[in-house]
Amino acid sequence: MTAEIWDVIIVGAGLSGLSAAHLLRKRNAKLKILILEGKDRVGGRTVSTEIPAANGVDRWDFGGQWVGSTQTHILELIKELGLETFPQFNIGKKVHHMGGPGGKVRTYRTSIPALSPVVLTDLTQLLWKVRQQTHTAIDPWRTPNAVELDSMTLHSYITQHAWTADLKEEMGLCSRSVFGVEPSQMSFLFFLMYAAAAGGVLRLLESTPGSAQELKIKGGTQQLSQCLAERVGWKNVRLGSAVAAIWQVEYSNISLWAPGCSYTALPGNIGRLINHENHCSFTAFWKEKGFSGEIVAGSSTGCPFCVTFDASSPSGNAALVGFIAGQQASQWSSEERRKAVLSSLVKYLGLEAASFIHYEEKDWAKEDYSGGCPVNVMAPGMLTYYHPSLRKPCGRIHWAGTETATLWCGYMSGAVQAGQRAALEALAELCPMTLTQEEQEVVQQSQTVEAAVKQTPASKLTRLSTANALVVAALAIGGVLLLARNQNALLKVKTHLVNAFSTTTHDIFLL
Ligand SMILES: Cc1cc2nc3c(=O)[nH]c(=O)nc-3n(C[C@H](O)[C@H](O)[C@H](O)COP(=O)(O)OP(=O)(O)OC[C@H]3O[C@@H](n4cnc5c(N)ncnc54)[C@H](O)[C@@H]3O)c2cc1C
Repeated sequence: MTAEIWDVIIVGAGLSGLSAAHLLRKRNAKLKILILEGKDRVGGRTVSTEIPAANGVDRWDFGGQWVGSTQTHILELIKELGLETFPQFNIGKKVHHMGGPGGKVRTYRTSIPALSPVVLTDLTQLLWKVRQQTHTAIDPWRTPNAVELDSMTLHSYITQHAWTADLKEEMGLCSRSVFGVEPSQMSFLFFLMYAAAAGGVLRLLESTPGSAQELKIKGGTQQLSQCLAERVGWKNVRLGSAVAAIWQVEYSNISLWAPGCSYTALPGNIGRLINHENHCSFTAFWKEKGFSGEIVAGSSTGCPFCVTFDASSPSGNAALVGFIAGQQASQWSSEERRKAVLSSLVKYLGLEAASFIHYEEKDWAKEDYSGGCPVNVMAPGMLTYYHPSLRKPCGRIHWAGTETATLWCGYMSGAVQAGQRAALEALAELCPMTLTQEEQEVVQQSQTVEAAVKQTPASKLTRLSTANALVVAALAIGGVLLLARNQNALLKVKTHLVNAFSTTTHDIFLL
């Protein structure tokens, strides 16, 4: 079989891979770019689906959905593609339930939950301590005591530094809502890095201006990838083309094979768990009753979801969206879960919740090639040993994907930033004249990362000196770009970095 020759091959038609392709195409229209996508659609962890609604049908997001005004990369893309945002509705009472099934159900209206003065004081001191240690998303191993912080989980940090049981429960809920995992599954240094990339812990949690849940995109977030694929050219996007292995060949062209074509293929990232549910209502009865639609519930309460939000569409169709994550996601069969979701909504918002038009779950666990919801997290030790290699190119393979972002890592905005950075790296090899001075510096930065620990498994990866050909990879669960030209040294590229992430997430959405 004769291999097709491309300048750049991108693995993954998620936001990162497609953003990379878009920038490459804008800088050099002559580049031959191929995008290989395992799924039968573009968008990766963003998917927008039409479901029955009060006024017929409407479209809702079942994956990434919120953006914030501090997320400049995604906002610029939204603007460039001519899409519009609208604010997350958050006016009215928010429901807060912690402390077991018999715990008091409280309501509050501010961005901080209804906590007792003692727990509020505890929260303040814990956030202060965390803020003192939240330094950098670029080189987290330079954080003082980095190795120690990376050897503990978020759970162990909370156990040591939170004074009250209530705050410990709150922090568990935060972990499930933001990361989809329990605090015991994540390195504390990773948590600090993630918070630094967002500009602070509170930004991850809130729907206030600048925070992660501030705005939504009219018509859904999958449009971003669809528009990008349109601009790059659908003929260059091959759906249903999972890559199973990547080989770099010294002294010859780099080749990538996929089943039925002249590429080799990688095992997809299957087995990570994500669910997602929809609850479409006749009217936004919660608004009429003075509720915002936001509910937070601890894992001990018997409620399957950890958080819900109002998800009414810009055209006025009422809906709630919610997430079931971490241990709450593993406790229920799907029928039990649905019943428990509905009875919890009735308990918190009233009997009207029992009467709805449509209820739908999206189980991301069953989604081939998606690696966890909403993001891959790192277990203890991973940052110390693997992070130095996270963005560093491996020969002609360049890494993108939101997990490699330095701003809003884990979010759609991070996916765009990472894709654009990987594209610049490819351009620096292919057509350096198209890069500004500032862009050249960005490229140099990502290529001159020092190892935190000498002789780590990652540092033993053989590296190639780049010749006039390269590979740009947007992995983690992102895409990969490959360039095919002359190269030195025979090398099978093992995707150690993918395995460096721990992914045991299981989330559920509810609209
Ligand atoms: C339920 C949920 C809620 C979320 N909420 C938000 C939110 O509100 N705001 C926000 O900003 N972010 C949110 N996120 C995260 C956001 O969706 C992701 O950060 C972003 O979409 C990641 O983009 P990416 O391109 O880096 O990776 P992905 O979207 O995962 O794209 C990677 C692509 O590579 C493909 N692929 C993988 N392996 C292979 C292979 N071997 N061969 C070929 N193709 C392959 C995959 O199929 C996929 O299309 C959420 C995610 C989920 C799932």
